[in-house]
Amino acid sequence: MATERCEIRPLVAGNWKMNGMKASLAEAAAVRDALAGPLASVGADVMLAPPASLIAGFSAAVAGSSLLFAGQDCHAKSAGAHTGDIAAEMLKDAGASAVILGHSERRADHGETSDEVKAKAEAAHRAGLTAIVCIGETQGERSAGLTLSVVARQLKASLPKTARAENLVIAYEPVWAIGTGQTPTPADVATVHAAIRADLVQLLGIEGQRVRILYGGSVKPENVASLMSVENVNGALVGGASLKASDFLAIVRAYEGR
Ligand code: PEP
Repeated sequence: MATERCEIRPLVAGNWKMNGMKASLAEAAAVRDALAGPLASVGADVMLAPPASLIAGFSAAVAGSSLLFAGQDCHAKSAGAHTGDIAAEMLKDAGASAVILGHSERRADHGETSDEVKAKAEAAHRAGLTAIVCIGETQGERSAGLTLSVVARQLKASLPKTARAENLVIAYEPVWAIGTGQTPTPADVATVHAAIRADLVQLLGIEGQRVRILYGGSVKPENVASLMSVENVNGALVGGASLKASDFLAIVRAYEGR
């Protein structure tokens, strides 16, 4: 099926991972205030994903503002005996609008499979959250020339039955680029994002044309402009550079005037 160009509002999402104490809420407040002031008309949605310990504080800090927040994972079930886990419904209840799922660190540290990611994404939809589904190849897979096949397999297997353009975001995050300072070339990003777009259209029909596809992996203020100008890159998933409001806002500013 042919893909068609359409306007997609970008998303810049910051993933704090297992970082942040109560004092870090000041960083979130600085992002919130910039979005209410100098960046009020920035052409992107902006989101942060704090660790579970900060969700309540985050929720209070961003209530009524345009700064969105997300969970970093959720369980597939809505409640029950699952010590240490968090349900999508709990995130929704706390004010989150999205949840990051299938991040490579969860796939590696917790052995999460794409089947589990799909079940979690369906749970996110059941709760009314947007599922931000992460996919990406390792260095070994890249060296073996398997990037496109790995990404296609993960996408197909992780995609929830309930997916629509409004409740799904795909984050292409080459594992070898996460936290390393290395990034693919814009041409490589263009190739992978075009393949993801074509797969989304094949899997979801016309909805697939409007699903946001983020690039993630060592996005910094210095490289954001070149990465975000690539076709089919509809925003960024940012790790390390989202911890300080000044760095994160420098990335968000790439969407000023768009
Ligand atoms: C991430 O882990 O989602 C990520 C993109 O990290 P970093 O920006 O630090 O590479």
